[in-house]
Amino acid sequence: MASGRPQLSRPYWTAQRLSTPPSLGLRLWRIVGNQEQRCITVELQNVLTCPNCGEKNAREMPTDSCEYFWTCEKCGQRITPLPGDCCVYCSYGERKCPSKQ
Ligand SMILES: [Zn+2]
Repeated sequence: MASGRPQLSRPYWTAQRLSTPPSLGLRLWRIVGNQEQRCITVELQNVLTCPNCGEKNAREMPTDSCEYFWTCEKCGQRITPLPGDCCVYCSYGERKCPSKQ
């Protein structure tokens, strides 16, 4: 009954998780027909600096959503993004969140 995979005409993305430091993150390929084009590497490892106590918290960012709240491991302060930012990584992280990279 199954007669193989249907031919994909539209480009789509496929992702591979990178687990080897220091490039912990996600590598995305854009597939066009049978062509595989390596496109972007999204870094998921991020360091948040607490605006309250200055503690640096290493965090792994989620790929499917933005993290709006974050609680500092040291002082317990609940951190929210600055006005205009989509998540705490954009406000206090070393790099922007995956949707902004
Ligand atoms: Zn703190």
